[in-house]
Amino acid sequence: MQQSKKQKIVIAGGGTAGWIAAAAIAKQLGRVVDVELVESDQIGTIAVGEATIPPMRTFHHLLGIDEQEFMRETSATFKLGISFENWKDQNQDYIHSFGKTGQESFFADFHHFWLRGLQEGHTADFSEYSLELQAAKAGKFVKSKNPEINYAYHLDATAYAKFLRKYSEERGIKRTEGKISKVNKDMKTGNITSLELGSGKTITGDFFIDCTGFKGLLIEQSLHTGYEDWSHWLPCDSAYVVQTKSTGEVLPYTRSIAHQAGWRWNIPLQHRMGNGLVYCSQYLGHDEAKKLLVDSIEGEMITEPRLINFRTGRRLKAWNKNCVALGLSSGFIEPLESTSIHLITTGIIRFIRMFPQAGIIDSTVDEFNRQTKLEIEQLRDFIVLHYNVTNRQDSAFWNHCKNMQIPETLAHRIDLFKQNAQAMQIDGEMFRVDSWTQVMFGQGVIPESYHPIVHAMSAKELSAFLTNYRKQIQQVVEKLPTHQAFIDQYCKIP
Ligand code: FAD
Repeated sequence: MQQSKKQKIVIAGGGTAGWIAAAAIAKQLGRVVDVELVESDQIGTIAVGEATIPPMRTFHHLLGIDEQEFMRETSATFKLGISFENWKDQNQDYIHSFGKTGQESFFADFHHFWLRGLQEGHTADFSEYSLELQAAKAGKFVKSKNPEINYAYHLDATAYAKFLRKYSEERGIKRTEGKISKVNKDMKTGNITSLELGSGKTITGDFFIDCTGFKGLLIEQSLHTGYEDWSHWLPCDSAYVVQTKSTGEVLPYTRSIAHQAGWRWNIPLQHRMGNGLVYCSQYLGHDEAKKLLVDSIEGEMITEPRLINFRTGRRLKAWNKNCVALGLSSGFIEPLESTSIHLITTGIIRFIRMFPQAGIIDSTVDEFNRQTKLEIEQLRDFIVLHYNVTNRQDSAFWNHCKNMQIPETLAHRIDLFKQNAQAMQIDGEMFRVDSWTQVMFGQGVIPESYHPIVHAMSAKELSAFLTNYRKQIQQVVEKLPTHQAFIDQYCKIP
């Protein structure tokens, strides 16, 4: 087997995507490749992206990151899920948590048992059978082996990029400050050969990772890869963001509060609150949106409201020629389920696994692009579900969402659930049965029937099972410390 020369990877951009890529490569490939990251302080980063999902813990574990240090450095808090308020209907809430609901059963998931219970007079809500969900509701948290609680983080995006920069530079990643003014390509192959900076410096490389944000300086502006637009399914195209002082104890969940033309978020950090209002500019003007946000926030503003425009969709090829796009340059769903940072981590892990040490091979590129497409499409379907399955009819925006044509893959899943409560489990999919059922029930989808296997239990057995399971969760939650108390002793910022 031939071992080729040491390759050089150039990372363009140093936002969350650039530094996640740098940190992962430094840890896993640091000895076999040279890496240089170029970023421009003048351009800066998008500086949002503060809610995450549980696989980030696995990613940190791969990097050997100390959790308490990371949480102190990024002012992080624990996240147990998202509270969706006014999504099903106005004044109706539910939580999509990171927890399992009920006990695992091989042939039919717990919700079939709950559905039969409902028919036989059990009035307890589906949410009462998930530990994480009930802990979130009670504002409680503990990190322990028993009970073991599944969680993610809320973090300060700017501090997180700094944290990963320090991590990467300590492991040999070279950082160059400067604005890329030109992308040079090989006339014959079309591959990128170097980046020219405003200072006149040229950075050459064998492989390039485009982390330049929405503009996709390399993948789009130079390689003209193309973009698949999803705004007919996800029409929100703008967000106003603002930071405020914290008021009261920090909650262990993100709040997502629907309004007449989109939704707004509250992301609680240790030292401040992140707020944003996501909306569709066709139905809500920018000035109105800004006012809606400012009028709805609680604490004192510590930044000026800032407008961000976006277009939901995906880059047609995440890997094109000798360039891989990560982060916003590769596509954007919208932040409703906090999936963007997750896609950066899975993207860089996939790239490292398929690393083209002996030159770029078409089959590797195709497989990388196939997996990337599938992954983002599955997440898209889950996000579209929230908009489409609603009782809201109080505005043109919600009428559009309720009546729009949805992706066939999603329509199929909704049908399966509506008809016989089948919550399809797709191998490798990020959001699993527990997520799909919590959102479906939370948004008011009640199936017409359930799996007959639940009748293997007598009515008395089922009743005891449902009652005891719920009581056990209540008892565990009662004994947990508050989220604030746990943070104070575990990772409080100095
Ligand atoms: P950026 O942060 O834009 O970084 C781009 C980098 O490229 C910068 O360093 C910049 O200086 C550099 N650059 C650009 N042009 C040049 C040039 N010419 N020369 C040199 N350098 C250049 N994700 C989540 O997971 N959870 C969330 O809660 C969440 N909320 C979001 C809310 C909103 C409103 C939006 C829009 C996004 C949200 N995201 C969220 C997505 C998340 O913000 C991004 O995935 C993440 O920040 C990564 O961004 P990035 O690094 O790709 O881009």
